[in-house]
Amino acid sequence: MNRIASAVAADPNRVIVFDTTLRDGEQAPGFSMSPDDKVRMARLLAVLKVDVVEAGFAAASPGDEEAVRRVVGEVEGPVFCSLARATEADIDAAYRALRGTEERRCHIFLGSSPIHRSAKLKMSKAEVLAAAERSVAYARTRFDDVEFSPEDAIRTEPEFLAEICEVAAAAGATTLNIPDTVGYSTPGEIGDIFRNLISTVRVRFPDVVFSAHCHDDLGMAVANSLSAVEAGARQVEGAINGIGERAGNASLEEIVMAIRTRSDRYGLHTGVDATHLVRASRLLSEITHTPVVRNKAIVGLNAFAHEAGIHQHGMMADPSTYEIMRPQDVGFEGTWFVLGKHSGRHAVAKRAETLGQPISGLHLATAFAGFKTRADEVGEISDQELLAIIEASRPAATPRQEYAYATAG
Ligand code: MN
Repeated sequence: MNRIASAVAADPNRVIVFDTTLRDGEQAPGFSMSPDDKVRMARLLAVLKVDVVEAGFAAASPGDEEAVRRVVGEVEGPVFCSLARATEADIDAAYRALRGTEERRCHIFLGSSPIHRSAKLKMSKAEVLAAAERSVAYARTRFDDVEFSPEDAIRTEPEFLAEICEVAAAAGATTLNIPDTVGYSTPGEIGDIFRNLISTVRVRFPDVVFSAHCHDDLGMAVANSLSAVEAGARQVEGAINGIGERAGNASLEEIVMAIRTRSDRYGLHTGVDATHLVRASRLLSEITHTPVVRNKAIVGLNAFAHEAGIHQHGMMADPSTYEIMRPQDVGFEGTWFVLGKHSGRHAVAKRAETLGQPISGLHLATAFAGFKTRADEVGEISDQELLAIIEASRPAATPRQEYAYATAG
């Protein structure tokens, strides 16, 4: 049994995390990465302890084959994987790129839906089944670990989907990945599809791991992935920052933190060290020159930021009033209190104290009024600006203090 199948067999509540940032993510417009970039990203994915890294599609170009080879040569830890069409030439290219490691996976995909069979492949059902069987069996001569994906599985006839999964498993596929290639499914539907497949396909755990690969065209990729997991899938595929074809893949950081934060509900866990999620998000953003939106779940700048006075006051009393995760758990230094027009007196006083300028009483009241006026004009108030406001609103010295200054020597 290969490493992934063994891990699932040893712990039925373990969800395998398969990262496709360097393949599905990289193949989307604007996200191309050089071999150097892929190596940098793969190093961090190894630190993050994802189980499988799909490093590329070796047959796509000589450059991609070289990138996969370099990742395998320079990074250790995860199982490394290359995508391949259901042909000997593609499987050979994957093998050439991955032969440097024993922990290698070949990921074969083959269109299975009516539209993919007729418009793209021009193959009958029988021809598709034969190609699935032949390619998986061939891959098994070079790999212990073979993943088979019936492309566009969600729009495939349920009986045919079960049939092709059964054929691939019988030929030696160790992971059956059910991709929602076009981001069409719903949580309810995909749950039914997985329950149906897992009960129909005669191969059983620990022989085969079922996997979900969801796209976000309707904004449901993460919800669909979690629904598949609840229905028995034990591998999820995702990408950092949710990058991938069109609207992207399921966001890996969201899946990992949902499984962890709601372990009361799912009763599952992953092997990912979430404290490196923010670093991974930032590195990918830097490599691809694509900023992450502020309100992105888990890794966005606002994910643990608070401006509203009522929220800031609650957070100061007890962080669990408005946060369900600790910012440190995903790699942020801490909660970020943004000072703006929605902030309250408590937050302003607290920041002033942090900046070494504790204020109270009349000084606080005057500074707070000045702060609100300025915040209405500019939005966010920086620490520097707050210090200026504190200085400008310092009350005139009282006669008693003047006397003290005069006699101080
Ligand atoms: Mn995809």
